[in-house]
Amino acid sequence: MAPTKRTLLAVPITASDTASARRQIKSAHTARADILEFRLDHMADADWPTLLAEASLPVIVTLRPRDQGGKFTGSEDQRLDLLADIAKARPAFIDFEWPHFAASSRARELISSITCDSLDADKPALILSLHDFHCVPSNLNESIAQMSSAPAAILKVVCMAQSIHDNLPLLDFAQQSSRPTIIIAMGQAGQISRVLAAKLGTFLSFSCLSLDQASAPGQIPLDEMRSLYRWERITPQTSLFGVVGSPIVHSLSPAIHNAAFEQTDFPGLYLPFLVEPGYENFARFMDGFLSRPWLDLRGLSVTIPHKENALRYLRDNSAHVDSLAERIGSVNTIVSSLETPLSGYNTDLDGALDALTLGMGITRPDLSGRKVAVLGAGGAARAIVAGLTQAGAQVLIYNRTASRAQRLAEEFTATTVPLAQLAKTTARIIINATSIGMSPNTQASPFPRDALKPDMTVFDTVYNPQQTLLLTQAAQAAATTISGADMFIRQAAKQFELWTGQPAPLTTMQQVLYRALA
Ligand code: NAP
Repeated sequence: MAPTKRTLLAVPITASDTASARRQIKSAHTARADILEFRLDHMADADWPTLLAEASLPVIVTLRPRDQGGKFTGSEDQRLDLLADIAKARPAFIDFEWPHFAASSRARELISSITCDSLDADKPALILSLHDFHCVPSNLNESIAQMSSAPAAILKVVCMAQSIHDNLPLLDFAQQSSRPTIIIAMGQAGQISRVLAAKLGTFLSFSCLSLDQASAPGQIPLDEMRSLYRWERITPQTSLFGVVGSPIVHSLSPAIHNAAFEQTDFPGLYLPFLVEPGYENFARFMDGFLSRPWLDLRGLSVTIPHKENALRYLRDNSAHVDSLAERIGSVNTIVSSLETPLSGYNTDLDGALDALTLGMGITRPDLSGRKVAVLGAGGAARAIVAGLTQAGAQVLIYNRTASRAQRLAEEFTATTVPLAQLAKTTARIIINATSIGMSPNTQASPFPRDALKPDMTVFDTVYNPQQTLLLTQAAQAAATTISGADMFIRQAAKQFELWTGQPAPLTTMQQVLYRALA
């Protein structure tokens, strides 16, 4: 990893005319960008010499030709002449494409004469860049080795990530390079590279002012870099955490856990890891990230569709699996550190039972002998049924697919009841562990309205929306209601405690979740 100061946040300026470019530059200043990239190939009608003279932040000048994903349509000679002209205005950096540099002696001579191969010189520093807009090519390392022989101040590698695994070659390059680097894995699967850039101490990461002003797929808005990922707090010593799932883009876990790290001053970074379905993908992700100790992966939340894959992976690797997670048959929390061997837990059970008992004002032993109706027989239901039967409750399972309910009941000594008899249930605690009522199908409820009674406690594990139709109708019937958000926060709090050994800042975590769900 090249020694560097704090990784800078760069904002590309892409407006085609002077007035719009000036507005973008002003917004970048207001948003506290560290450095600007003038995409002169986009700024065809802008008075760039004036804009360059006005800029009070360092500027990278880029004049990208079409074959490198840019908009410049002139000849290569015209482009080189223009760059020679631009260099006289002394931008801090000039970005030039490695294939063009390698292919033409005129390009090599001219670019080498107008730029410098070190930072802090009196000429623009040269950023040599390598792009692949489709994938991470199999010969990437070879191309990087060739580019590394050229006299550039900074080496930049940009590839399109097709999957989470594609981040690794770029992270490896940043980790191993003795020269300052810029790495970007484009697309949603590569978003983590834009944040991990700060942990690896790369020269800069590209951000955008807002999603509609992004100049490349996967750019993260500047305010999100700072407020969600705590950009300024990320250092090479920061430990890595995250949530593994698919889809993952709407997960609220990064907001909750990063806020918890901030509140407790814990040096952690929590990222969304989009790992496509399938055990192979999960195992490849785990192997890839765990085999790079410099990433310092310390903990993972595991969500749909990987909870069973996580259990299988831990078993396959002779790792420790908590007995409750074994019993439930799925793992939603992984702990990994130098001190602790790789371990798996399931915090859904504690999250659900804590939410239920706190909501009812009772303790777990008080559940003994109580009749509870659990709607659903999927992953959430398994954790809840395991917890309830362990606490001695009498569990009645109602599920659309009767055979699934039957299997679950047999495993945990519960009883199945046909769904058609739900309205006549004698249970006074009702738990929805189906996805009925979840956004976007918020007008659906799994329980007949007329069957809701004031002496019931109704717990809906669905947390998006926080106030489901079931909970609204239960409140109208004067029943006690408990939201899935309470379960979600409490399972997340248990994860935080497993990873950090500290009590979780519950109030902060709740505030973040409630704000996000509002
Ligand atoms: P899952 O394994 O896919 O199980 C889904 C369950 O819902 C199954 O029992 C399924 O019945 C039933 N179901 C789905 N659509 C239905 C429909 N239209 N009519 C009748 N039944 C239907 O999912 P999961 O992981 O258990 O998640 C279930 C719910 O729990 C989700 O809403 C999730 O948000 C929530 N959850 C909340 C938390 C939290 O922290 N609050 C944590 C985990 C899960 P079949 O067996 O017939 O398919």
